Amino acid sequence: MINLSSLDINKKNLVIRVDMNVPINNDGNVLDATRIEACIPTINYAIANNSKVLLVSHLGRPTEGNFEEKFSLKPVAEKLQKILNKPVELIKDLDSDSIFKSETNIQVLENIRFFEGEKGNCQSLGKDLASLGDIYVFDAFGTAHREQASTHAAIENASTACAGLLLEKENEFLTKALDNYQSPYVAVIGGAKVSTKLELIKYINTVADKIIVGGGIANTFIKASGLNIGRSLVEDSMIDIAKSIFEQGKIILPSTVVTSKSFEGDDIKEKSVTDISDDEMILDLYLEDDTIEVINEAQTILWNGPIGVFENYKFEKGTKELSQAIAKSKAFSLAGGGETLSAINKYINSDDVSYCSTGGGAFLEFMEGKVLPSIKALNLKKNGR
Ligand code: AMP
Repeated sequence: MINLSSLDINKKNLVIRVDMNVPINNDGNVLDATRIEACIPTINYAIANNSKVLLVSHLGRPTEGNFEEKFSLKPVAEKLQKILNKPVELIKDLDSDSIFKSETNIQVLENIRFFEGEKGNCQSLGKDLASLGDIYVFDAFGTAHREQASTHAAIENASTACAGLLLEKENEFLTKALDNYQSPYVAVIGGAKVSTKLELIKYINTVADKIIVGGGIANTFIKASGLNIGRSLVEDSMIDIAKSIFEQGKIILPSTVVTSKSFEGDDIKEKSVTDISDDEMILDLYLEDDTIEVINEAQTILWNGPIGVFENYKFEKGTKELSQAIAKSKAFSLAGGGETLSAINKYINSDDVSYCSTGGGAFLEFMEGKVLPSIKALNLKKNGR
């Protein structure tokens, strides 16, 4: 894979696929600019090297072929302008005369999902995107697992394509945990459902020394171990596979959990996991001293998914203590996933984690050992061509 920093980009026109898919409220305000901020290093690098940039991103899930105001990138372009303190121009169409022609060095193409062919990885849309500039830069790690026109066909059709600074960093840190990890390797897999993370759990089970499970995922494993979990979130279709993974001895289940009969938590109880009644739900769990010790001794830690319903402060203790334990650890720690990053921002300093990935689905697939389609397409370009 060719990196942007290895190419001569002086006075070149760069089409950069970024991931600026941010939450926007009904008044058109960006609620969380993290993903926009993650694109800034590549944009600044390009501008500092006298390039012009056209940024390409998706936002939400509009119907292809239609313009819908609520999915417009206008608020994103405005936010970017504020962050950069430089003019940013919104471009509506691929045949616009102003692409790379106006005074403005930074342009944002309207939501790529408005354009026919994006979803289906259409070659002609890919070609159109690729031919707008001199170099097609792929920096949207969060969508690198999707084979679409702007994430795949455009790379294939570009005369020169390379990875942006964010993708380069994601690739470096995730590869470190995937291939060059040091043992003991501890994974913490939380969140709602086993099914969305089954491939990751299976893969991690082959490389990690211990797997701490939490959230709805822990519930499925607790049930698979033969205990009653009452009305807790569970996936019955995953019980058999959970049982076979559990029998391999790497899974750490909680002993003490927090239960309630409702998500509001009006009647919370701290109790042994062996003592759950039929009308209760497990909504948080505690890390035992032995489990904290496992984290302390780890050389590599992978974390994806909160271990309780941390959005409600009554069920945040487990996730909070886990974040603090990871922050204190000397291990190489890697975290990914939207909820995981919210927990990190809520309870610790993100600098206390070695690397926080911007990917959700892409992070999971990368850590399952898959080569993501965009990365595969970039790898196939010889010298970026
Ligand atoms: P995921 O996107 O799969 O990582 O799931 C994150 C969500 O799992 C968060 O919004 C949590 O509120 C939720 N969650 C964590 N623990 C539990 C639990 N014990 N029961 C139900 N939901 C949970």
